[in-house]
Amino acid sequence: MELLTNNDGETRKAGEEFGKTLSGGYSVFLYGNLGAGKTTFMQGLARGLGITHRIISPTFIIVRSYEIPGSHDSQQVQVIQKLYHVDLYRTQTRRDLEGVGLFDMLNDEYAVVAIEWPEKFGIPLPEKRYDIYFETLNENTRKIKIEKYG
Ligand code: ADP
Ligand code: MG
Repeated sequence: MELLTNNDGETRKAGEEFGKTLSGGYSVFLYGNLGAGKTTFMQGLARGLGITHRIISPTFIIVRSYEIPGSHDSQQVQVIQKLYHVDLYRTQTRRDLEGVGLFDMLNDEYAVVAIEWPEKFGIPLPEKRYDIYFETLNENTRKIKIEKYG
């Protein structure tokens, strides 16, 4: 699926709609240059999962985690209890990934793990994942391409 957005609000909205379709155990790999809209999309994605907490870029701390409100009461099988937002832009070594528990997060059936700059360390690609490509077409226009696997 491919779409164009003409401002950051439209990208946030696209993230929100996408977030509503997610189920537990999926990873979301976000590809694209600085300023292409990955974090903006994540703000919407979090809202789509019911998170009201403000989403700020995890750049300096690698990962931020958010509890999904009400998820523990749900009868759904593939319920999502947590969102992990990971940004590898400033991560120095592969060992840092183990340090923050990235591989445990990726194996958590009750979590969604969203990763900015996933290409940086050649993380093994999870079977259940979305690859999302962000492209800056001009100052305010972004192309967003979403591919689902598994
Ligand atoms: P990334 O996480 O990919 O580095 P951000 O989401 O942090 O990117 O930043 C995107 C920047 O581009 C913001 O300053 C935002 O205001 C601006 N922008 C302009 N047009 C758009 C658009 N259509 N979608 C998303 N962001 C946009
Ligand atoms: Mg970002």
